Amino acid sequence: MVKYRIFVLKNNSASTEFLEAPGNDTVSIRKIQLYGKTVVLMWPDSGQAFSHPDIEFQTSVDSEFILSSRIWKQEDTMVNVRDVEVGHDVTVAAGPCSIDFDENVEDFAIELKRAGANIIRGGAYKPRTSPFSFQGKGSEGLDILRKMGEAADLPIVSEILDSDNIGNFNGVDLLQIGSRNAQNFQLLRKVARDGRPVLLKRGMGNTYTEWMATADYVLSEGNGSVIICERGIRTFENATRFTLDVGSIARAKKESHLPVCADPSHPAGRRDLVMPLALSSVAAGSDMLLVEVHPSPENALSDAQQQITVDDLKKLTDAIKSLRKAIKV
Ligand code: PEP
Ligand code: MN
Repeated sequence: MVKYRIFVLKNNSASTEFLEAPGNDTVSIRKIQLYGKTVVLMWPDSGQAFSHPDIEFQTSVDSEFILSSRIWKQEDTMVNVRDVEVGHDVTVAAGPCSIDFDENVEDFAIELKRAGANIIRGGAYKPRTSPFSFQGKGSEGLDILRKMGEAADLPIVSEILDSDNIGNFNGVDLLQIGSRNAQNFQLLRKVARDGRPVLLKRGMGNTYTEWMATADYVLSEGNGSVIICERGIRTFENATRFTLDVGSIARAKKESHLPVCADPSHPAGRRDLVMPLALSSVAAGSDMLLVEVHPSPENALSDAQQQITVDDLKKLTDAIKSLRKAIKV
């Protein structure tokens, strides 16, 4: 395993020339502006510390989980999704799996807000297992989502499948990368360069370190506004649709400065399990929940079995408040 050395420089315009030993072109150097600091990665690391007045901090890293790690940034990162600061309290993003309706959308958005949603989610471009399943309403779905956001005066989040479509995402406050695209590195890089905050799902087949490394792809483009989202992984267990990895949420909170989201809907796979999975995620330290809520769940064109009603969302957000009081966070 290659070792890396990470530096934080004192002076933002500091040159990295002092790291480039003459004649040593086997060393790679990458300079990144993040959170107002100049961060430099160098690899392979020889294990030798550098001495230079511009170095504020340096350490050797023996992992591919680097920029998203607290190893160089101890304090929590807050991600601003318009005026919602993710990382404080528990942010709730709620809305349909896919926007498959076009009636009473404003009323539904206001109901979501009353039930405790801080952000409205809605899928417009859907990554479906079968090409013959409902693929989402595309840009028309985003028009409806924007209407919902305006009606409730809340920010909106939607999944982007293809960076060629980014022009259709004007007004979408948070760009979601789905589980199936978590290691689509070109998409990660392109979406990162857009500069908007990113909600990055964990790939359902990715280990904890691989998940963190996907966040590093976004951070390495200088976009530090990343919310990492556990959404269940594939295991031998089929009691639930996916296995919600609560242990990884707890570990991510300790080891990463990024806010952690949990999606209880996709691992649950059925509505009666959404509440317990959501509460266990909050108990493990989640800063945010992404919950599928539909005006008429049983008639939804995707994930009908796991979507809950606004009444159930209200019960869930009330239960979160009680839980947080009980565990005194
Ligand atoms: C979603 O949240 O709409 C979604 C498709 O989830 P995932 O990528 O986690 O399957
Ligand atoms: Mn879904």
